[in-house]
Amino acid sequence: MIADIRFWEQKASEGHYAIPHFNVWNAEMLMGVIDAAEELRAPIIISFGTGFTGNTSFEDYCYMMESMAKKATVPVILHWDHGRNWTILKNAVDHCMNSVMRDASALPFEENIAEIKRCVDYFHAYNIPVEAELGHVGNETVYEEALAEYAYTDPSQAKEFVERTGCDSLAVAVGNVHGVYSAEPKIRFDIIEEVHKEVSVPLVLHGASGIGDEDIKKAIKCGIAKINIHTELCQAAMEAINEHKDEPFLAVERAVREAVKERAMYKIKLFGDDGRADE
Ligand SMILES: [Zn+2]
Repeated sequence: MIADIRFWEQKASEGHYAIPHFNVWNAEMLMGVIDAAEELRAPIIISFGTGFTGNTSFEDYCYMMESMAKKATVPVILHWDHGRNWTILKNAVDHCMNSVMRDASALPFEENIAEIKRCVDYFHAYNIPVEAELGHVGNETVYEEALAEYAYTDPSQAKEFVERTGCDSLAVAVGNVHGVYSAEPKIRFDIIEEVHKEVSVPLVLHGASGIGDEDIKKAIKCGIAKINIHTELCQAAMEAINEHKDEPFLAVERAVREAVKERAMYKIKLFGDDGRADE
């Protein structure tokens, strides 16, 4: 069933677990994560973004996402990740998505606020919640170099940011980066804790693939309620492809779906999201 992200993020926040956000952009990934959610009775977020449009036509694929979300017997949210501008978000909402992230985190504080407020004012009128980001989660690079000039979320700005924008959830930059970590991630749990004290909206951790299990559990304890996973689904798919490379394509694709399912199930359990659909 299609679900409201606000309800499930709030529930996760209060229940000290996290709802998984899985980026999906082909049939096997989508079916794999839905299989996992069904088997573990877990609410999940399925998400698409501009970075995947070179692989998949969103305006066609969205109907498969929507159809599978509707048919699922567990709550599924349809989310647009890292919206680069208002036009992209409007297109996402016109094509089945019922939740969006507007990522204006590369802009200075006041401009980030103005842009998020503009999106919130528009999309709330259509009952679409908006995730924002304060501080800036960078992209895949040499991790130690990225940390040297990393834009951590400033907890003293968080309350003002949330109040002035009216955003529904807040992505934090706490030493996390997108893609593969080239060195052990150094997560600033103190920042998560401080931001969590300052704001009432649920907190989001991007770039969680490659962050160790104990650190993930600690991040949830400190207040993270939504966790984004993409890279690890791709890694699971690649392992399956390599393992089955001498088999027919049909068999390889089934193995990919199964591998994605297994990895998604692992994350759902790690985040404490299993069984929550029936609570
Ligand atoms: Zn992200």
